[in-house]
Amino acid sequence: MWKAIKPIFNVGAVMVATLSLMGCQGNMSTSIASSLPDTVEIDSIAVLSDQELEDTVKNKKGYLTERWRDPVRIPVDTLNPISKDSLERYTRGERRRVRDSVRRELDKLPKHVYFTFDDGPLIGSSAIDSISKAKNIKINVFLVGRHANMSKRLKRDLQRYKDNALVECYNHSYTHAGNRFTTFYSNPVSAYEDFEKNEVDLELKHKIVRLPGRNIWIYDDVRRIDLKSGASTADMLYTNGYKIYGWDVEWRINGASGNPVQPMNEIYTRIRNFMNNKSSMEPNNVVLLMHDDMFQNKKGQQLLSSLIDTIQNTTDYKFEFIRDYPFRY
Ligand SMILES: [Zn+2]
Repeated sequence: MWKAIKPIFNVGAVMVATLSLMGCQGNMSTSIASSLPDTVEIDSIAVLSDQELEDTVKNKKGYLTERWRDPVRIPVDTLNPISKDSLERYTRGERRRVRDSVRRELDKLPKHVYFTFDDGPLIGSSAIDSISKAKNIKINVFLVGRHANMSKRLKRDLQRYKDNALVECYNHSYTHAGNRFTTFYSNPVSAYEDFEKNEVDLELKHKIVRLPGRNIWIYDDVRRIDLKSGASTADMLYTNGYKIYGWDVEWRINGASGNPVQPMNEIYTRIRNFMNNKSSMEPNNVVLLMHDDMFQNKKGQQLLSSLIDTIQNTTDYKFEFIRDYPFRY
C-alpha cells in the first residue's frame, strides 16, 4: 500500500514535524488538523524491512518501545503541499504498519509480569509469603509501617517477608494516609515525611514507592498522574531519588469471604490482553495490583495459587521484581 502511494510525495522537506500519536486513536485527525498548516506535503520515512527492524532492535535498546509510542514521524514539505485528507490517510496507514511490525518483534521477546501486594503486613501476608516460596516466584510488597507495629504477629510476618529472598519490600507510606487521601496529599511536605519515616522504620533498601490511593507513575522518562492531588508529593519523592510505580491491572477479592470481585479467569485474561495488545504502561511488562488482606482465608489463597499456576502453565511470562522494571526492548 505504502509503495503504491509513495511516488505521489516529493522529497524536499522544509520542516520536520514529529507527530506523537500515543493514546489518541480517537482524536488523531483533530490533533493533526490543529497542529499543521492547511496543506502540507509529507516526505517518505525510512521503511524498515523485518530483518532491518530486528537488527536495529539488537543494537538499540528501547527502540521498539519508542516506535510503539511514537510510530509516525513525518517530515513535512510546505512547498509542495498535499491535502489534509491525504495526510490523515497516510498517517493512519503508517501508524498501523509500524505498530504491526513493532508488535511482531515484541512478541518474539521476553514478557514480564509483576505481582505486587499492597498494605502489608496484614492478615494474609504470611500466606502470600508461603505461596511465593511454594511456587518459587518473585513477588513485590508495598508495606505500611504502622501495620507492622500493630501486633506481634504482624511484626513476625514482616520479618518473614524480609527473610524471603523471593520477596522485595518497598514503601507504601507509614500511615497509609489514614485513608484520607486528599487531606494527606494537600500537604506534600508532611506526606513526604511519612514515606521517609516508613523507610527508616522498616529499614527499606530501595527507594521505590507506591502512593496510597493513587495510580501515579514517575520514573525514567515517564510521568503519569491519575489524580492531581498526589502529584506534588510524587514529584517531591522523585526529585529526592525515589521512583513511583502504579499498576496496570487490579484484582479484588473480599478478604473475609474469599469471594473474588473479579473471577480468577477474568484477571488472567486481562493480563494476557495487556501483554498481547501492548496496552500496559510499558509493552511486554504488566504490573498486577493485589492487597495482602485479600488472602486471609483458604479460598482467596487458592485463587492466588491457581492464577500463578495458570500463568506458569500457559505462558512464558517471567515473574519479576519491580526494582528491575521496566524491561525495555
Ligand atoms: Zn494501599
